[in-house]
Amino acid sequence: MPLHAHLNTFAGNPLDRAADRRRDPAWLAERLRGEARVLALWNGAPLLGPDDRLASVEPDLARQLSGEGERLLFLGLDGGTAVFALDLEGASDPSEGVLSGRGAFANLRDFAGRGEEDELGLAATAKAIFEWRRRHRFCSACGQASEVAEAGWKRICPACKVEHFPRTDPVVIMLPVCEERCLLGRQASWPPGRFSALAGFMEPGESIEAACAREIKEEAGLQVLSVSYHSSQPWPFPANLMIGLIAEVAPGEARPEDAELEAVRWLTRDETRRAIAGEGEVGLPPPLAIARRLIEHWAD
Ligand SMILES: [Zn+2]
Repeated sequence: MPLHAHLNTFAGNPLDRAADRRRDPAWLAERLRGEARVLALWNGAPLLGPDDRLASVEPDLARQLSGEGERLLFLGLDGGTAVFALDLEGASDPSEGVLSGRGAFANLRDFAGRGEEDELGLAATAKAIFEWRRRHRFCSACGQASEVAEAGWKRICPACKVEHFPRTDPVVIMLPVCEERCLLGRQASWPPGRFSALAGFMEPGESIEAACAREIKEEAGLQVLSVSYHSSQPWPFPANLMIGLIAEVAPGEARPEDAELEAVRWLTRDETRRAIAGEGEVGLPPPLAIARRLIEHWAD
């Protein structure tokens, strides 16, 4: 059985993460003096070359721009090649300055609509780590500025010695189904006609099944009978893991029970297929969203 029955956008990072190498500064330095590939992100936007693929920065230049390694991340091995990512920040666009002539930075959501699976996986991994770095520069235990360790994958507080690891925040995203219909919800801020699967953050002490049942009760007033797993998706805005589920619910009147949704709506399989085809009044999220994959899977 393949590892991914359903491969979602951003889930295609092909690298061997080679985590043991993160703790080997001599090996990492040697790679950066040699043939390493260094990707660059500016405020989370990946650098793309004229071919619309991820562009590289010379390892020497990347080291100079990395702030003693603070903004340099070892992503892993692509065959024998070490792959790093450089985190650039600030208001002025480096492609019009220090990285002039190497390409342009692209919004990751826009790139997700056209990029290759492996490149989107690489960019998503680097973006998630860099978002964490930007939001966790200080020790959450004592407030001291923390220091980067393990090639970007950890931070250590020099004062209290607490170690801090990158966050991944799990979100359940689920399609409630009952008697050959599926239930979609709509938030007021979405484009007119847009409906999607229901979703919410998991809470401490909850199983995936319990979070799914709670969210469907809160958002639609329905009782969950069973939950089946479909697939998952790293979602680097800033660092979520979307856990895609299909939930069988008991018959009942669906109605938004909290302020999150402005409407919920049952669709038959035929209505769902029409929405997937772009026909009718219900619009669905784009193919990069796991919600779309859940809806398509059920409609099939
Ligand atoms: Zn501390």
